Amino acid sequence: MLKPLVDDLLRLWKPGVYLSQTASYPLGRLVRCALIPLVCDLPALRKVAGYMGHGGRFPCSFCRISNEHAHSNFDYSSWDRHSWGEHLATAIRWRDAASEKEQQDLFEEHGIRWSELLRLPYWDVTKYSVLDSMHNLFLGDFKRHCKNIWHMTSDLEADTPETDVPNPKKKSVVLDKNILKEVWRDIAQTYLPSWLGRPPKRFGATGGGRIKADHWRTGCLVSLPITLIRLWGQPHSSPEEKQLLENFLHLVVAVKWATKRTTSRRVRDIVQSEYHRYCTSLVQLFGPDVVMPNNHLTFHLVECLELFGPVRGWWAFPFERYNGIIQRFSTNGRLGECSWEELHDRC
Ligand SMILES: [Zn+2]
Repeated sequence: MLKPLVDDLLRLWKPGVYLSQTASYPLGRLVRCALIPLVCDLPALRKVAGYMGHGGRFPCSFCRISNEHAHSNFDYSSWDRHSWGEHLATAIRWRDAASEKEQQDLFEEHGIRWSELLRLPYWDVTKYSVLDSMHNLFLGDFKRHCKNIWHMTSDLEADTPETDVPNPKKKSVVLDKNILKEVWRDIAQTYLPSWLGRPPKRFGATGGGRIKADHWRTGCLVSLPITLIRLWGQPHSSPEEKQLLENFLHLVVAVKWATKRTTSRRVRDIVQSEYHRYCTSLVQLFGPDVVMPNNHLTFHLVECLELFGPVRGWWAFPFERYNGIIQRFSTNGRLGECSWEELHDRC
């Protein structure tokens, strides 16, 4: 499926397209186009770029860390980086292998296969397969922390702790119905600026429908800190509550800084140090099994910030919006009926 697109991109890169006349250039202008960041969710990115699935032996497209060490090694400086040249050489060996068996052996050994995008002479797969913050932070780290680690539920029959004090070692429900009721009360009383999407009134309610990425964003960056600091950040709060709060706030601070409208060396340092504190305290509270490849990948977000600037310029929100618009088109049995004008009007 990528081949026709890459064929066009190759022509658009070299020789490019010569426009005989434009508004600013009456004598004409050479236009060249290039595809740089690959923005999509992780499963799609791994397939399109030619990597093994992120649950496999090599979960990272930026470095060579193994799945086994990604759960426990949070020392960013110790990770051995992928090289574009080596990746390309391995992918070509896979493409030119004499048999499927040889391809399979190479794939098992290196976790890499050929991708049509590698035909683009400027496309560095080790840098341009970017980490999308919408999927990685909001639908990844935030959602996972609430649903899989804190077992967020408003179900009355859920496994709530015997006392009011949540105990992470017992793997009981941390974000239970009583806390969620406090969250809902605070959401109802919170005035949000117009640029922040309001989370659902019953955020996290069991059977309350799908929580969108933007809801996770506001819910975890604004609503939960307001309520949890009020409940767990008091002098009389238990040590367990304070530990849970501190751990979560490291994630909140890291995400807050990672998604700022500007970026700098200072932003990079804060994101890295806060996310490191989040992961190390997460392991202390819940054990190493809760750490996922997604957590390892978040450490690499700072590299994307350095290459592409603030995430708001390349996160997946606008692309997902277009996907939603296109999905609403009725296409069954209407091959070729959708005109560019219609597409342009709706988008
Ligand atoms: Zn890595």
